[in-house]
Amino acid sequence: MNSAEQQRQQYLEAMGISVWMPRIDSLKTDGDTVPDSEEDQSAANIAQTRLTVLREDVPATWDALDAGIRACEKCSLCHTRTQAVPGSGSRLARLLIIGEAPGADEDKLGQPFVGASGKLLNDMLFAIGFKREDVFVTNILKCRTPNNRDPKPAEIDACHAYLQRQIELVDPVLILTLGRVAAQSLTGMKVPVAQMRGSLHQIDDLNAPVIVTYHPAHLLRSPLDKAKSWVDLQLALQVLQG
Ligand code: URA
Repeated sequence: MNSAEQQRQQYLEAMGISVWMPRIDSLKTDGDTVPDSEEDQSAANIAQTRLTVLREDVPATWDALDAGIRACEKCSLCHTRTQAVPGSGSRLARLLIIGEAPGADEDKLGQPFVGASGKLLNDMLFAIGFKREDVFVTNILKCRTPNNRDPKPAEIDACHAYLQRQIELVDPVLILTLGRVAAQSLTGMKVPVAQMRGSLHQIDDLNAPVIVTYHPAHLLRSPLDKAKSWVDLQLALQVLQG
């Protein structure tokens, strides 16, 4: 085993994974991702509408977009945040990662995923051969919620045009969502992550497919799910290599 391989093994162990999972030979497509209930269907329609509306009011360049996000007052989170957290990483990334919202550390530092979840995210990325600076990382909400409560639908809506523009600007090969809030917001499916992961979700008007996996904060609380997350990362790698 060479030293890079050894280092990767160490990161895998940090993720709680001691054995390599078998490769996934065939990608499941989104045949099982179509919401069946009327409620799920209407959630999907709302997500669809959000993605198709052309937002002329959102800045079209990176610098203007970042400045717009930092100055944003579209919802009341602007009163409780220390600062907005637009996102970070390569603007040419092939992999775009979307979390939920900045936490206390991120709110303080102005960068996404810098706390304990961020450390695990870095380990997860390293395990599939990526460094943090190779990918672009952002959140559904660009501002911390008070006491890290769940984002409200109106806050997600207010922030959505920023995310949409980021997706357009990065134009990634693949989007990886972390956790329920990001997965549900993007797919419009109101089901648990467990039912959304393991598939490639093709969303109309998004050039890149979406893969759903667990949020690192969840993995820190429920380490048994790390093995499932590792399978999701392998699927992501397959798509990126494909
Ligand atoms: N959790 C998130 O969803 N995003 C961050 O940036 C940090 C923690």
